[in-house]
Amino acid sequence: MTLSVAIIGSGPSAFYTADALVKSGVDARIDLIERLPAPFGLIRYGVAPDHESTRKVARSFDKTARGPSLSFLGNVEVGREVSLAELRQLYDAVVLAIGAPFDRPLGIPGHDKQGVHGSAAFVGWYNGHPDFRALDPDLKVKAAAVVGVGNVGLDVARLLVRSRPELEATDMPDYAVEAIVNSQITDVYLLGRRSAAHAAFTIGELREMGDLDGCSPVIDAASLPTSFDDVPEEHRRIKSKMVDMLRGFAGLPQDRPKRVHFRFNAAPKEVLGGARVEGLRIERTRVEGGRAVGTGETYDLPCGLVVAAIGYRSPRIDGAPFDERNGLYVNQGGVIDSGLYAVGWAMRGPSGVIGSNKIDGQAVAKHIVENLGTNSGKTGRDGLASLLRQRGAKPTSYADWGRIDAAEIARARQGSPRAKFTTVAEMLALLEQRPTATS
Ligand code: NAP
Repeated sequence: MTLSVAIIGSGPSAFYTADALVKSGVDARIDLIERLPAPFGLIRYGVAPDHESTRKVARSFDKTARGPSLSFLGNVEVGREVSLAELRQLYDAVVLAIGAPFDRPLGIPGHDKQGVHGSAAFVGWYNGHPDFRALDPDLKVKAAAVVGVGNVGLDVARLLVRSRPELEATDMPDYAVEAIVNSQITDVYLLGRRSAAHAAFTIGELREMGDLDGCSPVIDAASLPTSFDDVPEEHRRIKSKMVDMLRGFAGLPQDRPKRVHFRFNAAPKEVLGGARVEGLRIERTRVEGGRAVGTGETYDLPCGLVVAAIGYRSPRIDGAPFDERNGLYVNQGGVIDSGLYAVGWAMRGPSGVIGSNKIDGQAVAKHIVENLGTNSGKTGRDGLASLLRQRGAKPTSYADWGRIDAAEIARARQGSPRAKFTTVAEMLALLEQRPTATS
């Protein structure tokens, strides 16, 4: 029998699952159902634009997408054109590979003031994600605070202080390059609620902060821990290396026009200001049993922009049990229910690196293959095509993506890999045009 599999999403977890299914040798028709006409999810819209080499993994996804058993259906939103219940009736297996594109709320008084953004929105904006094209953050401020010291916090801080040549060499859209280069930001504060020994960022990403064209890292060496007893043993060596690196930053001359300040044991308590953010009230903390505990001592940090880089949540899809607390799908090793699976951040929350999705994809593909029954008679791809036709939906294909991709590369500014279309309407308008030799 031919197994029919619908994978919702087309980011890394979707592609690694599809690839594992193909490699399993099972006879399968695999459909990647994507809300946007452009594939690759987090690779295209989450990875920092100055980390182009990380995006190279899309080349192997491209190869998977061109395989004979795969079909890409862009511009189809589950919950709008088709429901999850309908997909489960049409396909032998449905995989939620929808990532975690929503921000966890900061949840402190004043967090809804103008000028406070979540990193999903802010990163989406500078990466040209159609959902955040209109964010238009006000960067005409001198100081910005980034809450959270994970790799996303570092990405945001680093890009806010990058120079024009550095940004123009990336695929960051012109509107974001101009907003950042013409901003008045000279100081970015990275706030970790625990100590430097508990920071979530990784060493390669931290090293970059000491190597920026026009920006000096700033840290008070006296604020750095000398003991790592409260860090899990397996992490002590690397955490101690990172603290040494921060100590090295403390010895650097602060001779550049911009600065990124590392502040640890600093938990935001309140966003200050009127309608707009004017500052953050911060409580000093100490770490007890691995948790940040407030000391009651506070100070105010003036800033006109706050980006909360404190983690993400998956979107809810009707018909799948959702763990509200953790913002992911209730599952056992990727299995939600018979014929329904989750992979990547929808399965385990927003952690790990891109390659971590490979392990999830392989595990879920194995479950799917092991639970392959006898001929189910499900209509899969053909059934979905007919349903979408009835509903007047206009799915886009992988060949359509090829035209969008080629047009983006062709219109890139000098030195940049591509100029993304940043609205769905622009992408669809391009596809309406008669194909030419270059499109
Ligand atoms: P993350 O690594 O989980 O870091 C989140 C940070 O937010 C932590 O410092 C956390 O502190 C802090 N935080 C959480 N809730 C908070 C609150 N209420 N108040 C103050 N601080 C709070 O998440 P991420 O940076 O969003 O990254 C997500 C995943 O993508 C990670 O696995 C990351 O490594 C990966 N990523 C990798 C790269 C790369 O490889 N270059 C780039 C971007 C993202 P606590 O530790 O105290 O909870």
